[in-house]
Amino acid sequence: MKDKYDIVVIGSGIGGLVSAALLSSLGKRILVIEKEPKPGGYLTEFKNEDFIFDVSLHLLNGCAKGQYTYNMFERCHIIDEIKFLRPKYLYRSIFPDFDLRIPQMNLREYTEMLGDLFPKSRKGIKILFDEMSRIFQVVNSYFSSKRVTPLLLQRLTSNYKTMLDQHINDIKLKAIISQLWIYLGLPPSLLRAIDFCYPWFDYMNNGGYYVEKGSYEIVRALVSHIRNKRGDFLFNKNVGRILTENGFGRRIAFGKDEIFCDTIISNIDLTKTIFELIGSSKFSTADIAKIRNIEPSISAFEIFLGLDVDLSATYPDDYEIFVNTDYDIDKQYQDCLNNNAKSAPFVITVNSNVNRFAAPKGKSVVTIIMLAGYGHWISKSRGEYEDKKHKVAEILMDRAGKIIPEIKKNPHKKAVSTPVTFERYTNNAAGAIYGYSRTVGQKTEIRPNEMNNIKNLYFASAWAKQGSGVVKVLHSADDVYKKISKTVDAKL
Ligand SMILES: Cc1cc2nc3c(=O)[nH]c(=O)nc-3n(C[C@H](O)[C@H](O)[C@H](O)COP(=O)(O)OP(=O)(O)OC[C@H]3O[C@@H](n4cnc5c(N)ncnc54)[C@H](O)[C@@H]3O)c2cc1C
Repeated sequence: MKDKYDIVVIGSGIGGLVSAALLSSLGKRILVIEKEPKPGGYLTEFKNEDFIFDVSLHLLNGCAKGQYTYNMFERCHIIDEIKFLRPKYLYRSIFPDFDLRIPQMNLREYTEMLGDLFPKSRKGIKILFDEMSRIFQVVNSYFSSKRVTPLLLQRLTSNYKTMLDQHINDIKLKAIISQLWIYLGLPPSLLRAIDFCYPWFDYMNNGGYYVEKGSYEIVRALVSHIRNKRGDFLFNKNVGRILTENGFGRRIAFGKDEIFCDTIISNIDLTKTIFELIGSSKFSTADIAKIRNIEPSISAFEIFLGLDVDLSATYPDDYEIFVNTDYDIDKQYQDCLNNNAKSAPFVITVNSNVNRFAAPKGKSVVTIIMLAGYGHWISKSRGEYEDKKHKVAEILMDRAGKIIPEIKKNPHKKAVSTPVTFERYTNNAAGAIYGYSRTVGQKTEIRPNEMNNIKNLYFASAWAKQGSGVVKVLHSADDVYKKISKTVDAKL
């Protein structure tokens, strides 16, 4: 390790690793500093006996050859190390009156399936899906050429519910079409239309993918590439300060140590970077006011299960299963915020049906996730916290056992995470699993990839303006790479 680097990346989540991988190819001397003993942030796995549990990734979009995620991993020189697999169905969606398996890469079949179930809405479904596909195109053209169209502006400033209501009346159909709201962490009434439509179309039309050996495969490949390019890593080092001189961040302090650098990339919670690492006095009052308004996204409650039975024999078609008790998504969201496990929607993922390496022969790995408010878990005594954790897990396992009885009958290993666990592990405020909350009011300019006051500081993470989810974080890392490589070109 040296005491001066061209670039220091704070945090080794996917945004930090991808920016480091891209920039290391420019010959930059890079150091990644991570507070945990291992890299990856939310993209992590843990082992329990012979079971391997993937903590976050369920599905990835843009993975077919020539699409965005594929291209980014190619540019990071890791594409040969990653094998993308497509579950048979995109997902299964269970409602009180429906049990639907959604086809992969076949929007036409999905449109027909919904039209047959809701014949009176056939025309509305077609018009809605056409608009959602056009939104995907205009966002892509914004990414490639920064072209802003009237449709882009309109759907940036309106919520998804307004768009849905224009074309669909049936409340059941609206809930079925909006199932993927859970991946965005907000109900259609609060979520920006654009943030729903872009990933929705990408998943529906271009497919949902998983990684053969789980998401940590991506992390391992990135770390190995960065090391091959002579990049360094420091683990178990919690960055406490960024010290500035004349509007530039120059020294990164952790414990009693300091590292000098020319450029800094923050991969961690934006508000913590500003308020805790730098200090609000270094920014304009207007910027500070905007940043104080940033709301963290919802968090999650997650159960990791190793089962003594091979579910691929009995449920060969299932991977991602959404379970809903009703059609009122605003109510469902409130149930999640209140940790009302008896009626909140949740997701069962049969990980080992796609990742054959996750469980030993004859066994399975399953995760159960409920979006969960953070407030519910704080200021509880240790005993109360453990009691609550146990009760919520039992309720969700009972409910999941109604769909897959083996979940109750054959548990062998079990681990549970709450919003507090997620916060402790990543330092993301309120255990936010999707960075900031993507409501219409959370305007992009308050979530920058850079800030004028500290000229050599960049943000590549779920807190940057592109948004959360692996693909959006890749976009933020790419943006930061382009900005930094321009400064390199200018020096040459
Ligand atoms: C349960 C769950 C399910 C998800 N499912 C999906 C999915 O199916 N598809 C999808 O695309 N996305 C999914 N996501 C979202 C996705 O995982 C995240 O958006 C993405 O991984 C965030 O990456 P990031 O680069 O912002 O960094 P993070 O993962 O937040 O990592 C930040 C890193 O910085 C480190 N750090 C923090 N503070 C400091 C400090 N002071 N000093 C040093 N290091 C520090 C942390 O330890 C951490 O390693 C899911 C997330 C969760 C939690």
